Amino acid sequence: MTDYSDSAQETKRKLDVISPSFCLAKWNMVSLHLTNGKTHSCYHPPTHDIPTEGLADNPGLLHNTPQKIEERAMMRKGERPKGCSYCWRIEDAGHTSDRHYRSSEWWNSPDFEKIAFNTDMDTSITPAYVEVNFNQACNFKCVYCSPHLSTTWQEEAEKYGAYILKDAAHNHLGALTEYGLMPKKMSQKENPYLEAFWKWWPDLYKNLKIFRMTGGEPLMDQNTFKVLDYAYANPNADLELSITSNLCPPKQELFDKLITSIKKLEEIQIWEDPDKFNPNSGNYSYVAPAIKHFSLFVSCDSYGKQAEYIRTGMDFEKLDRNVREFLKKTDGTNITFINTFNILSVPKLKQFLQWILDLRREFGSELQEQKIITVEGHPSVIRKKRQRIWFDIPILHTPSWLSIKMLAGTEMEAVMEECLEFMRENLDTSDNVWPAALCFEGFRQYEIDKVQRDLDIMRSGKAKNELDIDMVRFYQYVDELDRRRGTNFKETFPELINFYERCKCSS
Ligand code: SF4
Repeated sequence: MTDYSDSAQETKRKLDVISPSFCLAKWNMVSLHLTNGKTHSCYHPPTHDIPTEGLADNPGLLHNTPQKIEERAMMRKGERPKGCSYCWRIEDAGHTSDRHYRSSEWWNSPDFEKIAFNTDMDTSITPAYVEVNFNQACNFKCVYCSPHLSTTWQEEAEKYGAYILKDAAHNHLGALTEYGLMPKKMSQKENPYLEAFWKWWPDLYKNLKIFRMTGGEPLMDQNTFKVLDYAYANPNADLELSITSNLCPPKQELFDKLITSIKKLEEIQIWEDPDKFNPNSGNYSYVAPAIKHFSLFVSCDSYGKQAEYIRTGMDFEKLDRNVREFLKKTDGTNITFINTFNILSVPKLKQFLQWILDLRREFGSELQEQKIITVEGHPSVIRKKRQRIWFDIPILHTPSWLSIKMLAGTEMEAVMEECLEFMRENLDTSDNVWPAALCFEGFRQYEIDKVQRDLDIMRSGKAKNELDIDMVRFYQYVDELDRRRGTNFKETFPELINFYERCKCSS
């Protein structure tokens, strides 16, 4: 059992003292979608509307919505809010759920007493973990994305309409509008949610432990840089800041601006804080970077031309250049590549893994040795060696016709086996106990386990009736993508031609 699992089990016992459905994430964690005025607690429950009434005077309503207040009351009584079914299903199957994991995390667990034994928090809490989508502006239109999350997708849908597939109209603007998912038609100046956010921000910031900016492409939005500037001017030693970026912004200046901002945040500086007396200097100054840590999340689901096909708008060479430049020019940072694992990710998985390995060999850790930075009259700042290159490989479930389950029984299973063998040959056994790991240059056992899990899910396949429909949809979808985007599926994915032909025959 890992430390993470141990601490989730320990947290479960604490949560059970309040009730068997109590979850700190319902209080202390929020995702905000400021383009359409929606929120959820963690990202599993469906989003719901943020009320506009009273928002201007009480911006905390962005998080403390009537729906969440009702759900917190349910959790205190041991009832299960319907939107949290992701966790209930896992728990009913006898496993540890995200309710336990999330509640056990470093930014959440210290607040257990404060939240558990203080019902005032049910109506008015300032969360420690905040994720925000300021803008759907994006220069990419990834094949599994949607017009409500990308302006480029929206433009395509306005020009050509929905993708008409077997028994489905995919990414239909009318339907997305009806579900309340499309951004509301207003400028940022008129956006009451954005206005409330900035009104709330100074209070929110004091308590923040994790702040993530998503999108759209966050580098295309001025609010992203406003946050980075604010963090520089207002140091917060507990704050982990992150951005999820495609790292191919339409203007290279935006990437350069990001690097400049991060380098400033990393500088060790002398700060004044009336709450921090320094016995060495006899005054209230201390030395530290402005924030605890900065992480970049980069979505990339394959390698080279196949990655470009999946994420229309990507220039893989530019991505690789920007990744290396980011790693060279900053040193307290890390990058996590998110490979949203779908049918089109499989053929070049080995090249993707080789790329990760090459980056790990070049930039494995921030420092070769622990770095001690001394400023006269102050305790030394110690920068520990830390892992810089991470990756995750979550499974794509929708659209269903891009699911890896479609590849059960195909030659792609052997491709996955070969990838697993490659990872085992490059296993990093240096020291698996975080944070003492010394190498960071191979693959970790838990990463191999995740790829094995993906292969197992691929092999589990689909029910015949679902598979029959999705095979037709797959063929229709890639043909229409090629027509609209001027791409060529068969040329780009020679490894999947047999599969494509079988789909075509079944239509
Ligand atoms: S119970 Fe699960 S789904 Fe609900 S807020 Fe907690 S972690 Fe999220």
